[in-house]
Amino acid sequence: MKSLYVKFVVITIGIMIISSILAFLVSNAYYQQKIKPLNDQKNTEIALSIAAFAKEHPSIMLKDYLENTAAMGYQIYSIDQSGNEAFYGAPFRDSNLSAYTKEKVLNGTVHHGILQFPKRTFVTGFFANELQNTIGVPLKHNGKTYALFIRPDIKLLFNEMHFLFGWILILSITLSIVMVLFSTKYLVKPITHLTNATQSLANGNYHVKLNIPRQDELGNLARSFSKMAQKLGQTEEMRKEFISNISHDIQSPLSNIKGYTNLLENESIGPEERAQYISIINSEIRRLSTLTKQLLLLASLDRNEDMLKKRPFNIGQQLKELIRNYQWVISEKGLMLSYTLPDTEIMGDPSLLNTVWDNLLSNAIKYNKPNGSIEISIQERKESVLITFEDTGIGLKHTEIERIFDRFYRADPARTRTIEGTGLGLSIAATIIRLHGGQITVTSEEGEGSAFIVEMKKNHGDGFC
Ligand code: ADP
Repeated sequence: MKSLYVKFVVITIGIMIISSILAFLVSNAYYQQKIKPLNDQKNTEIALSIAAFAKEHPSIMLKDYLENTAAMGYQIYSIDQSGNEAFYGAPFRDSNLSAYTKEKVLNGTVHHGILQFPKRTFVTGFFANELQNTIGVPLKHNGKTYALFIRPDIKLLFNEMHFLFGWILILSITLSIVMVLFSTKYLVKPITHLTNATQSLANGNYHVKLNIPRQDELGNLARSFSKMAQKLGQTEEMRKEFISNISHDIQSPLSNIKGYTNLLENESIGPEERAQYISIINSEIRRLSTLTKQLLLLASLDRNEDMLKKRPFNIGQQLKELIRNYQWVISEKGLMLSYTLPDTEIMGDPSLLNTVWDNLLSNAIKYNKPNGSIEISIQERKESVLITFEDTGIGLKHTEIERIFDRFYRADPARTRTIEGTGLGLSIAATIIRLHGGQITVTSEEGEGSAFIVEMKKNHGDGFC
């Protein structure tokens, strides 16, 4: 397979060659159609004025006169009625000319050799140093008739220009080729880098570095590629962490259950210890059950965004119902709960959103301090509804806030060790809110308490009862 570099160079040089050929053909057509007749006409006028001057000045020596004229940049051939020929100026490369033409000119006809010069010679006909490619006019001098054939001495007139144009052409072709070679390298280099980076990414190296600081499409592509590699790296990290977390979170309750059932096999243990072991086993089974339920929910949320069964519903009533369910735990823990929950309609999946409120309320209870308080409120804004869960609990450090919505993340274990949890609740809550087009934020002060604020879009449907 030819490399992109070679293809690019070949195509560009090919284009240069084809366009040169086309340019040559077009300019040839232009020469044949427009310039050749003009050139013929111009030289005819010059030849006629030379002849007229010779006729009007019989005293001059024709030979000297024609020699002088030739020296000014012309090739001249003359023949008289007796057949005496003379050449002046630079010799013709081809001095063939039919006797018929010579005769015709001697008889008074003008010979338009430049105009009649064959077309097949293209534009180069202009340079053809041939006697046929001349203007022939009759010349009368001192009673004698001559046929005078004349053409500009291109070599003499254009010699320097020839070189100059030749050099310009050679230089521009060479420079174009050199520039094409370099510019193509410049264009193709980032693609080579990108290809290497893609291969490296395919081999599992997500830390590919692309140094392509260009502002064009390739620069954009490189930046998007770097972002994509970074994202893939993060996803891969998360996947590994997720698997190791799941394994750990399933393994540890299982080994606890196994340990305590082994202990239960010992018949000598007292009823109090037995009851304690059974309670631990039950709590571990609960943990496993919650974990699998949450994992299933997360998996279905990840897989399918269409799983939302949205409808307008009263979020105020939903929250009041939830509070009723938790009332006994709240009073058992000696917590104070207050709320401001006006009837408010939002559009969403009531069951999934209930999971969110359930998680936020259970966290506000779990991570609260003895005799602490919880405040739940709904605030209507112009376009949105704010649902706030505020507690006076253990709070969060700044570094913890950043990771709070990550899967399996649990803040400082020293403070939460004794509290049951999987670290999945908030990440599920955030996913559900995101699927609803809302957002969840948290403000917290360590040791003071936290506030989780959910912002949902308002339902602009036809009012709510
Ligand atoms: P879980 O509660 O099952 O551990 P979550 O995802 O609900 O998992 O919460 C993640 C972590 O965030 C918790 O382990 C806890 O450290 C912290 N957290 C959540 N809610 C609060 C809160 N109201 N006050 C203090 N910390 C909280």
